Amino acid sequence: MFASMQGCTAIVTGASRGIGRGIAARFAAAGMHVLVVARRQDDADVVAREIGGTASGFAADVTDPAAMRAMAAAARARYGTIDVLCANAGIFPRARIDEMTAQDFDAMTDVNLKGTFLSVQACLPAMKAQRQGRIVIIGSITGTTGGYPGYAHYAASKAGQLGFMRSAAIELGPWDITVNAVLPGNVQTDDQPASKTAYQQKKLTMSALRRLATVEDIANGALFLASREAGAITGQTLIVDGGQSLPESPSAIDEAMAAAGRD
Ligand code: NDP
Repeated sequence: MFASMQGCTAIVTGASRGIGRGIAARFAAAGMHVLVVARRQDDADVVAREIGGTASGFAADVTDPAAMRAMAAAARARYGTIDVLCANAGIFPRARIDEMTAQDFDAMTDVNLKGTFLSVQACLPAMKAQRQGRIVIIGSITGTTGGYPGYAHYAASKAGQLGFMRSAAIELGPWDITVNAVLPGNVQTDDQPASKTAYQQKKLTMSALRRLATVEDIANGALFLASREAGAITGQTLIVDGGQSLPESPSAIDEAMAAAGRD
């Protein structure tokens, strides 16, 4: 799949664990040189070693403009260019609105929204110079197709990413740089706390496909949008959630399952 990515260079932010680690591994398996970015060098190096090949780690905080410029410079120095940026780094600490502080809100938007902007901005000189590029933002169904109590600030940051994406797609189109987003639903990651299991179970029985998306599912969506083959797609979202956000009511799933003779 997507042999055209062989030898291309990708930066993946937030790749020390979870979805970002899976995307970095998938990109490398497709033949890309991958810069694995996380805040601590050791964590980034561990994943780069796991992936093997030409993957390498880089320590950078996505909220720091100078660190983002250094990240882009490192990718160019090590691999020659930047073909793909996957802006994945994100945080999701929970807070109800009446308890949420201004600092909670700022921290969320700093990493998820400003971090997306700063990582994109840092990669533009390289992408514009070669007159092509692929930017893949990892958003969420939270804030874009629905919401969840305790996540108003997260939802705002994820909705904001899509506003940024749509304008960026128009602004960068003349350089053949595409900007798209993968919107995961609930994803079972290695770091998912055990306390979430009952919640995860409930979500999967509500999903059209009766399963949640895996890290690999998200990574395959990101790979498609990063590929040469996706060159006519820009400013778009790809929901990868097993159909979690699809039913208009719980009875939609119940009726479909009953008609299929399943429970
Ligand atoms: P994890 O918490 O497992 O991983 C988050 C990653 O982001 C880590 O590698 C972390 O690296 C990095 N990170 C956090 N803050 C910063 C920062 N300031 N600068 C650089 N890197 C940072 O999250 P997930 O893998 O679950 O989520 C990844 C993305 O997917 C996020 O954007 C999230 O919103 C989105 N998503 C996740 C869903 C899920 O169910 N898991 C559902 C929908 C969307 P380190 O701490 O080592 O620096």
